[in-house]
Amino acid sequence: MRIARTVAEVRVARAQLPEQLGFVPTMGALHAGHLELVRRARDENQAVAVSIFVNPTQFTSVDDFRKYPRDDERDLALLAESGVDIVFLPTTETLYPVGFGTTIDVGLVAVPFEGIARPGHFGGVATVVAMLFNAVQPARAYFGEKDAQQLRVVRQLVTDLLMPIEIVAVPTVRDEDGFALSSRNTLLTLDQRAAAAAIPRALVAVQRSWDAGERDAERLRQRLSDELALEPTLSIEYASLADPETLVEHEGQIEGAALVLISVRLGAVRLIDNCLLSLPLDCR
Ligand code: AMP
Repeated sequence: MRIARTVAEVRVARAQLPEQLGFVPTMGALHAGHLELVRRARDENQAVAVSIFVNPTQFTSVDDFRKYPRDDERDLALLAESGVDIVFLPTTETLYPVGFGTTIDVGLVAVPFEGIARPGHFGGVATVVAMLFNAVQPARAYFGEKDAQQLRVVRQLVTDLLMPIEIVAVPTVRDEDGFALSSRNTLLTLDQRAAAAAIPRALVAVQRSWDAGERDAERLRQRLSDELALEPTLSIEYASLADPETLVEHEGQIEGAALVLISVRLGAVRLIDNCLLSLPLDCR
């Protein structure tokens, strides 16, 4: 496994690998969700690159950026075990030298939900993803459905800017109680972790209503927030149903599919999750 810390190093390492390179961008503090992306990339390509970079421009709070969990040594050991060929581990100064000026705005899909909760977040994401793609030059890139709006933003980026990269979506890896794995979960106390089980419970509840034939957006949204409200320590930032393609909030009778999007706060920790309602059994 080659560890590249500069853009020049990653370009040299990449040039020695076959064209069919799968790429997994991450912010580190790796868990089984990240490793599932790596496994898929390894299965579907001739070589695999992973980046670890806690991107400051996608954080809206300095405190959140500082507190974000980091453990490069453990991450590198996990990636070596997983058969990764290149790890790109740039510093902030490497990617954002003095004079850096570009921000990519992908338009409407970046506006609602996380776009409102974290102004500037998706500009940071789209820009760093484009930079990482240009440095690593993969054939395919792997993103988790856990961050559904991010996935939509990346698809928009690649389509609009004519990037010759296939975006592969990987289903969310969950704990036994359904709680989605996330690097931020290490910041939760045991009590908060127990309370967080309300999130997958709410997703399953709305899935049940959907499976039973409910298509009224308001009633489905109500079901979602009622279920979340059963856990009093959890505060809801948004709990919505949107069109999976446009991310416009559904109103009235829903025709076609719906993306259920949840963001909650447990103490200082912000958690997001989602599930797609189309055919039955999506959330389970
Ligand atoms: P992050 O390190 O949080 O930026 O995540 C890196 C990639 O891993 C993103 O594409 C995430 O959507 C994906 N990811 C994070 N958590 C999970 C999970 N529980 N299951 C699947 N993919 C995930």
